[in-house]
Amino acid sequence: MRWAEITIRTTPEAGDAISEMLAQVGADGIAQTDPFEFRRTIEEDPLSYCDDGVIESYGEDVIIKAYFAELDDGYIRMGPKNEEFVDPNGVGMIYGGITDKTLPTDEALAYIKQRLADIAEFLPIGKGFEGFSYVKDEDWANNWKKYYKAFKISDRVAVCPSWLDPDSIDSEFKIILDPGSAFGTGTHETTSMCAEILDEIITPASKVLDLGTGSGILAIIAKLLGAGEVEAVDIDKLAVDVAIDNSKINGCDIECYQGELSTVRSSDYDIIVANIIADIIAAIASDVPARLKDGGYFVCSGIINTKKDRVLKALEEAGLEVIASRTKNDWCAYVCKKN
Ligand code: SAH
Repeated sequence: MRWAEITIRTTPEAGDAISEMLAQVGADGIAQTDPFEFRRTIEEDPLSYCDDGVIESYGEDVIIKAYFAELDDGYIRMGPKNEEFVDPNGVGMIYGGITDKTLPTDEALAYIKQRLADIAEFLPIGKGFEGFSYVKDEDWANNWKKYYKAFKISDRVAVCPSWLDPDSIDSEFKIILDPGSAFGTGTHETTSMCAEILDEIITPASKVLDLGTGSGILAIIAKLLGAGEVEAVDIDKLAVDVAIDNSKINGCDIECYQGELSTVRSSDYDIIVANIIADIIAAIASDVPARLKDGGYFVCSGIINTKKDRVLKALEEAGLEVIASRTKNDWCAYVCKKN
């Protein structure tokens, strides 16, 4: 199988907005390389290292690579991943109204260029669209491997790729995670903020729902940290399959299934963690309390700064009390309590 790899060269100011747009149009994977962020990580994190010359080779631009599955020759998959979820008034709304499962590649590229032009009206996007090519599955996996190292995601948890010896990593808990064809490699701020919060609030009594599990990363971290019961749910079947594999690799007993908040199996979670995007968090907030125990926590992330007020309003209207917040770069995460 092949993937359409779209390369965008942009500025640190526009990087997150462009990645969010690509997620909205349904990219299967997004790799954002910010040379400034990369340099900071290498300098500050004692577990990070990279080969000579790699830092210099990154230059001064943010490079974004987005991957879309090619389902048929010349047609790439955009929009929602499942027919059930294309309802434009439901979660399908995040996909900018794209309800076709596939688009001819040239139409898809034209659409992405138009969305870039929209962003350019309010942010300096630099060069913008740089190119497009097809890559094979194996190339994708190998490209990722070059840059993917072990790193600390929270106080007690390190993320380790399977090709490194876990004994060489010094951390109380280690999650073995390879980049697969679903979001959640742990390198994104929105994920690490959730991991840090889970590290503080999980207890053996916790029954946890990871909504929008992607690779399963947060569900697995919750289980490694000792949560009694963990469910991992995603609207994307592909993500659920990856989450099942990753749970097994980490020896974690987690219920992984396809769905969304309205179809989850329980109404008595102690913790619901949702790292999705601002629009979805705002849209589901009113249904969260019915799924939580009294005193339970809703941890939400994936909220870009410019949309935080919309989310805070929805949380307040849902009767959820924001008891803590975190920010990293342009992203916000909130811990809410059901009183
Ligand atoms: N939890 C991972 C992945 C986050 S990416 C992490 O923290 O890194 C967001 C995921 O949410 C994607 O896999 C996407 O398919 C899923 N998603 C989007 N809208 C959703 C919804 N309404 N309900 C459940 N999952 C959703």
